[in-house]
Amino acid sequence: MRNEAVVKDEVKAKVKATRGKFHLESYGCQMNLYDSGLVASILKNEGYQPTDSVEEAEILLLNTCSIREKAYERVYGRIESLAHLRRKNPHTIIGVLGCMAQSLGKEFFSSGLPIDFTAGPDNYRLLPDLIESASSNREQSQTGLSLLHLSRSETYDELRPSVVTGCTSFVTIMRGCDNFCSFCVVPYTRGRERSRSPYSIVDEISSLPNVSEVTLLGQNVNSYCWKENFHFHDLVELILKETDIQRIRFTSPHPKDFPEELLDLMAREKRFCKQIHLPLQSGSSSVLRRMKRGYTQEEYLSLVELIRSKMPFVGLSSDIITGFCGETEEDFQDTLSVVEQVGFDTAYMFRYSERKNTSAAKYLKDDVPEDVKLIRLQQLIQEQQKMSALKNRLVKGKKFEVLVEGYSRRSQSSMTGRTDSGKTVVFPLEEGHQPEDLTGKLVQVEIEGSTSATLHGRELTTCLKIT
Ligand code: SF4
Repeated sequence: MRNEAVVKDEVKAKVKATRGKFHLESYGCQMNLYDSGLVASILKNEGYQPTDSVEEAEILLLNTCSIREKAYERVYGRIESLAHLRRKNPHTIIGVLGCMAQSLGKEFFSSGLPIDFTAGPDNYRLLPDLIESASSNREQSQTGLSLLHLSRSETYDELRPSVVTGCTSFVTIMRGCDNFCSFCVVPYTRGRERSRSPYSIVDEISSLPNVSEVTLLGQNVNSYCWKENFHFHDLVELILKETDIQRIRFTSPHPKDFPEELLDLMAREKRFCKQIHLPLQSGSSSVLRRMKRGYTQEEYLSLVELIRSKMPFVGLSSDIITGFCGETEEDFQDTLSVVEQVGFDTAYMFRYSERKNTSAAKYLKDDVPEDVKLIRLQQLIQEQQKMSALKNRLVKGKKFEVLVEGYSRRSQSSMTGRTDSGKTVVFPLEEGHQPEDLTGKLVQVEIEGSTSATLHGRELTTCLKIT
């Protein structure tokens, strides 16, 4: 007679082996992309199979973003467009994950969209159970399930989602945010700050196959803190020491508490890329105060000066919002002036859209007319594009070490990669060079021309590994 426990394990393994196929789509930021990797690894461990085809999938999952109005609209549109699959196969399960799920929760079920469940970013370990329950709910024609718990400790530490594109990868080092900027929904959808164990991060980086560059992710990476006294610069030092990764980048730091030790480490370590994404949000001190950003225009500019004094060729990028509550024309001119003074290499620019639950939604009036927000946004984009084009023109004739990431988007006879400062470079594949031999390698490229977004050049030499 066989042991009952062995039989149970065999039945479990069989059930796992016959579980359905899932199709997972990711919207929004890199952290969401990483989270989609976590979701995929949790489901694969339980026997579900990923598929790129929506038609083939029994489970459709949308990992959503709620940071901007546009992201909401895209997700609603996508769920509507998936409704026909439900009509074709009434057993298809549709689940909404991520920030939008957390923020709208049960409201989704009254929208008339075919949704079986919603799960916020801290609840992915329970997804297999949720899918099972959603499936039996469907049989009994019951409606939606939600898992919206916000955790103070979940970091999915031991999972290895392996979010690799070519030779680069993202690794999340912390989750959540404690800053509560007045316009931002993140603390309400991703919860409070938690940092991952440094050993688990090092282990994850070491286990990434054929990866030359990692980008360390967090909503506010310079708040990274493990056991009270191990900070972000300690983590980067540990990664440099314990792994042979060729390049490290990170995003995003907060300008209000930028540690000088981090700048010093960046300045002296060749493998730590000289690129900083430094969200400005507004160039007006009074708007910044209403945004609860914790710095003034002057403090931001002094930080930029300090950064450039240590790394004159640093790449700087930013996030900027136009038309925040109470923004006057004078405030907007302050933003343009900071953009001009700093000379960002690139910027992500948006018009303000009120987000539910935020303190701006509760206490401030969204009083800048939409057309004014839009005109200011267009003006800002024009300014920034001029600046980006000018900065790129200035490096004509210069030589850069470029980490080759793969074919360029437009042509299979060109390769693309990035400089240490984060600029995208495209160059033709030399005769006799194989793309697979170059991908993941450092090559020296001389810049011959540019647009506002890209540098174009020619390959000089294939370089050795950075040491
Ligand atoms: S720092 Fe501010 S803008 Fe950034 S995630 Fe936190 S609350 Fe949002």
